[in-house]
Amino acid sequence: MEGRPSNSQSEHVELLRKIREFTRAIVEDLSNGRSPTILIDRFRNYCKNPIANCYCSSDKSYGKEILTLRRESHVHRLDVLLRVLLIVQQLLHENKHGSKRDIYYMHPSVFSDQSVVDRAINDICLLMQCSRHNLNVVSVGKGLVMGWIRFSEGRKIFDCINCPNSANPVPVYVEEVKDIISGAHYILVVEKESVFQRLANDQFCNKNRCIVLTGRGYPDIPTRRFLRLLIEKLCLPAYCLVDCDPYGFDILTIYRFGSMKMAYDAKYMRVPEIRWLGAFPSDSENYSLPEQCLLPLTAEDKRKIEAMLLRCYLQREVTPWRLELKLMLQKGVKFEIEALSVHSLSFLSESYIPSKIQGGVHI
Ligand SMILES: [Zn+2]
Repeated sequence: MEGRPSNSQSEHVELLRKIREFTRAIVEDLSNGRSPTILIDRFRNYCKNPIANCYCSSDKSYGKEILTLRRESHVHRLDVLLRVLLIVQQLLHENKHGSKRDIYYMHPSVFSDQSVVDRAINDICLLMQCSRHNLNVVSVGKGLVMGWIRFSEGRKIFDCINCPNSANPVPVYVEEVKDIISGAHYILVVEKESVFQRLANDQFCNKNRCIVLTGRGYPDIPTRRFLRLLIEKLCLPAYCLVDCDPYGFDILTIYRFGSMKMAYDAKYMRVPEIRWLGAFPSDSENYSLPEQCLLPLTAEDKRKIEAMLLRCYLQREVTPWRLELKLMLQKGVKFEIEALSVHSLSFLSESYIPSKIQGGVHI
């Protein structure tokens, strides 16, 4: 756990006050022989009714979850919640930061699994109405960025423009990112590090004035917050390039709509402006991919696609995405972005991406 300049002092004091009030109410209930009742707002990113007139992903809670000591599963959940809250309180008092992994290792036998800690942190954010970084809980950082951008994070300067084809880590303390300067025309988000490296090797950012970002698979919170910040500050269009398979499509939806594990601060992470650049199921024909490059969908792939087709936001907001996803199921095949290299190693950076962006072939 490390110490560093932190959230403003008044935010700190307010959060510590909320934590004290919350725990005092629980202790009072217990000392009076009552079971404490804890209400946690529930948010929903999507429902499974494509024709629903619902309020999913609208930042409004759709109900409350009630935790009491009368249910055994809740007893453990509350135990975890209070232990994590105590650690958070300590981090705030000592002005230190810790990762979710650090917290897990403080009581591994009680927590039993990382996901238990993750849920407690999410619950605490909802209860205290704050973002995870306000709790001084940070990620290790997974994302990479390169291209026409310069910014500072605290006292550190990230000057990517000096060497636009070198990978830089996405800043973890996104709330401290300032002085963003860019000469880019667009932001390209790629699902995979291998594609990011391919573009770096092809000097893609030298030839195309852009910023390239990857979350290396499912993006973490800093990567999504950073992307959102760049779009807000620079007002640039953003395109997303993912594998043509159910995981690629799911990752695309996470950038645009957020993940199902909705947090209090989900609204700071969604990027409704993002456009899907590829790879589309229809690209296999449009780019004459040979059959050897196409893999049959597994039974699990098909189940995943069928479930995704039901997500209400696809019908409501991005019908063309849904049509392409349906086509994936009809064709029964998937392919990786790298399959496009069958034409030539640099086909992706020299032809596919520039022609799609210039020709407006995105949805
Ligand atoms: Zn819905």
